Amino acid sequence: MELSLQNKNVLITASSMGIGRVTAELFLSEGANVVICSRNREHLIKASEEINHAYNKEVLWEVCDLDKLADIENIIKFCETHLGSIDILVNNCGGPRPGFFEELNDSDWNNGFNQVLLSAVRFSKFVLPAMIKNNWGRIINITSISVKQPVDNLILSNAFRSAVTAMSKTISSQVGKHNITINNVAPGYTLTQRLYDLSASRAKLSGESQEDILTKMANDVPMKRLANPEEVASLIVYLASEVAGYITGTTIPVDGGITKSTY
Ligand code: NAD
Repeated sequence: MELSLQNKNVLITASSMGIGRVTAELFLSEGANVVICSRNREHLIKASEEINHAYNKEVLWEVCDLDKLADIENIIKFCETHLGSIDILVNNCGGPRPGFFEELNDSDWNNGFNQVLLSAVRFSKFVLPAMIKNNWGRIINITSISVKQPVDNLILSNAFRSAVTAMSKTISSQVGKHNITINNVAPGYTLTQRLYDLSASRAKLSGESQEDILTKMANDVPMKRLANPEEVASLIVYLASEVAGYITGTTIPVDGGITKSTY
């Protein structure tokens, strides 16, 4: 299958590690021009060195804290200067603070809003005018299965990722005529730092070992295992491709079947 991603300009947010980073590697292997970013310069330098060594193509990077408008404006300018307009935007972010309703205060809600929803709003707003002008574009938001089936102690994720989903659906109907698709990829339990952090927090609450928590998570999944980040990244890359041009406004889980919802 020809994905036609050679020389497409791709910006992946929150991508020094985890699903974002693996997605960057897959896009590079398809011949795309890729920019990664996150808050930590050292992590970005290390990631870019490893990626450049593994692929015969250079990944570009810039520091960007998704909570800061000035950083977002800066990385958009960085992409325009080094690559030109962005063809493909992957809106990723760090996972919001876990917790039950009664445990979270206004500051947690504000952080969750900034991190998950406002960052996706801002990046989408910045890239869409050029996509419309070019009559081609792809936006893929990394959300969570929490939009299909809320997770008890992840109320910030449940609330703000549902908002990202509704926002994307709304915009997708406005920009479809410009050959722009907007979709969400919803990971289930995926073996990254985020899952290690979540399992550590659950282990602390329950008194079980972190290993036992991870084993239980895997056993809850019909496939009886956790996902590897490549399995999520492959769908993102497919949705960005030319052949996925008729898929828009939707959410696709990569969850080994754990979501009970039928749609
Ligand atoms: P991860 O923790 O492994 O990586 C997160 C990335 O975000 C890192 O590169 C980190 O540096 C960056 N980041 C965090 N805060 C940032 C900020 N303020 N500004 C810029 N960069 C920032 O996470 P992951 O597992 O790759 O998950 C990616 C997304 O998918 C997260 O939003 C996560 O909540 C969601 N998700 C993950 C799972 C899972 O099981 N791993 C399941 C469902 C949803």
